Amino acid sequence: MRKNKMSDKVQQLIRKEILQLNAYHVPDPGNMIKLDAMENPYHMPEALINEWAELIKQAEINRYPDPAATKLSVSLMSYMEVPENISSPNKIILGNGSDELIQILAMSVAQSGRKILAPTPGFVMYEMIATFAGMEFLGVPLNDDFSLHMPDMLEAIEMHQPALIFLAYPNNPTGNLFSDNEIEQILNKANGLVVVDEAYHPFACKSFMPRLGEFDNLLVMRTVSKMGLAGLRLGVLAGPEQWISEFDKIRLPYNINVLTQLTAEFALQHADVFEYQAKLIREQRDWLFNQLSRFSQFKVFPSRANFILLRVLQGDAVAIFSGLKQRGILIKNSHSAGGVLTQCLRVTVGKPEENEALIEGIKDVLSGNQSE
Ligand code: PMP
Repeated sequence: MRKNKMSDKVQQLIRKEILQLNAYHVPDPGNMIKLDAMENPYHMPEALINEWAELIKQAEINRYPDPAATKLSVSLMSYMEVPENISSPNKIILGNGSDELIQILAMSVAQSGRKILAPTPGFVMYEMIATFAGMEFLGVPLNDDFSLHMPDMLEAIEMHQPALIFLAYPNNPTGNLFSDNEIEQILNKANGLVVVDEAYHPFACKSFMPRLGEFDNLLVMRTVSKMGLAGLRLGVLAGPEQWISEFDKIRLPYNINVLTQLTAEFALQHADVFEYQAKLIREQRDWLFNQLSRFSQFKVFPSRANFILLRVLQGDAVAIFSGLKQRGILIKNSHSAGGVLTQCLRVTVGKPEENEALIEGIKDVLSGNQSE
């Protein structure tokens, strides 16, 4: 009885759009080989871990962190080569992961009738956060080769005047970079903000960062998650000061904790270690692409990120996903998203031995062997 009353209240009080949502699902990997979440498989070398541990010992966790993360911000701006623009200076704002920055962006423009636009399939949080903020999400389907469908994009921008446009560069889950010329057309057409989301920058080696200031509506977003610090939760949004100062008003005080500030600063002093790891991952991505392409059952899409999307042409993607899971390998089942992702799987590039295990696992599943 009480339970029913409670659930009535929940239904009455919680917004309809929230009741209809499913929470962001993260599967428990247990001891599986984890190739589902685009993490860097490498930890820091042991000597560096020891040095870092010494630093952490001195962290004043009894104190609030520097609310503006000043020291870290200066290091990040220099490391990420945020251009200094004399006429309209660029600035950055830090988030608890770039997820939080997407939320800050949405909250700063959210108003009834306002829209967020992104190509689809794309990063799911753009749509989820639009919903959290009470905005409408407009997904513009990509072409079959995952390039931007420019007539539809330009028409949607003209018609709906989105307050925010997200372009993941490279795109998740498809792995490709959109063409620079097309992004420029979008920047010129849009009256709203255009966020070039460079989460996979360490593997793409291409960036819109140098172009900040060239367009008054361009913002560039990065994260340290994919370079090897996913556990820290640290995202960076760079752009003209006038925009960033407004977003900063919404940021919760102390959103970047003491340990994250210290650790990220330390990591940047050893950026060569992370850059070397990214190089290994790029090499492994090419190896994995070639190996996966050998399966006549798959169409494998070239990637500029640290993951590869493939479509199962003969057979069943879900059966392959489950077969791999039974063999202790966790990848992402993109099939469940439907649309152009029907029969698609996404694999994160791991260490050489993990990638080899994946290939052997796929061979085993396809040969119809039953796992124990
Ligand atoms: N943007 C894109 C395109 C992503 O794929 C992801 C995470 N998978 C994010 C942003 C979020 O990254 P973070 O860990 O910094 O929240």
